[in-house]
Amino acid sequence: MAQILDGKEISKQIRDEVKSKIEALGEKPVLAIVLATKNESASTYVRIIQKAAEKVGIKANIIDLSENVGHDELMAAVKNLSEDTKTHGIIIQTPTPKDIDIDEARSLIPLEKDIDGANPLSAGKLFSNLESFAPATASAVIEILKYYQIETSGKHAVVVGRSRIVGKPVAHMLLDLNATVTICHSGTPDLTPYAQNADILVVAAGKANLINDKQVGPNTVVIDVGTNFNDQNELVGDVDFEPVEKAVKAITPVPGGVGPVTTAILLKNTLDAYLGQTQKPT
Ligand code: NDP
Repeated sequence: MAQILDGKEISKQIRDEVKSKIEALGEKPVLAIVLATKNESASTYVRIIQKAAEKVGIKANIIDLSENVGHDELMAAVKNLSEDTKTHGIIIQTPTPKDIDIDEARSLIPLEKDIDGANPLSAGKLFSNLESFAPATASAVIEILKYYQIETSGKHAVVVGRSRIVGKPVAHMLLDLNATVTICHSGTPDLTPYAQNADILVVAAGKANLINDKQVGPNTVVIDVGTNFNDQNELVGDVDFEPVEKAVKAITPVPGGVGPVTTAILLKNTLDAYLGQTQKPT
């Protein structure tokens, strides 16, 4: 049986720390979440962040533009928030409608308020090893490895997925931690030889059951970033958890792994933005 890497435990520790720091401040940092979609999972996720924020003393304002928002309205809303001195952190929840140029909107988030590392310039800074906010999910993966003291230096890390918000930043951060990194994607003909050779396997593809027990080994540490809904409408990851859990050294569950740590890091980053701090993520 594998060690279960419990994201809820890490999340609680981060949230408790954020809460006590905010209590000492006596003032509430403000997080603005722009919701420009009717997508049900996105609205649910936004309300989860709002609830978690309020529990630690962060005021979370949802800017609800889900009714027929166009590109210009979204740009105007983000510009307002960027200029509002009472707003410390900004997230634009995805997906956004097709006619919206999301990168243009993200580019309007000032780097010091870009608590989810969404502005392309934040990515540039991350890849240049300069202080910035990294995408929270990528930071969550690293936080889990550090919390459980999983060695990265000299290890082979395989990242499945190359998106700008998860795969690429995780790969870069692992590289910074001296791992030898392989990135797989939909053009990789067969994941098996890569996954089988991984000391650390980070899976962020958004495909249920992408990784099975024949593709992993007894020394593999698996971080499952994926979130999918199965036929019973249950939240599952990208890894076929039950058999894989019996075959590996350690694994994050879904739910209860990367997700709660991601939310906690968004809160920590909001506090850091309030304090005027960005960080080197690794
Ligand atoms: P994207 O769809 O943007 O990227 C998915 C990546 O996976 C792409 O690079 C794609 O390759 C690759 N991929 C897709 N299918 C395969 C395959 N069969 N074999 C190998 N690679 C494949 O997704 P995100 O990066 O935004 O998210 C990934 C997953 O993580 C999703 O399930 C998402 O819901 C989840 N997520 C979870 C979070 C959390 O807090 N737990 C937060 C953010 C995301 P290519 O580039 O070639 O298309």
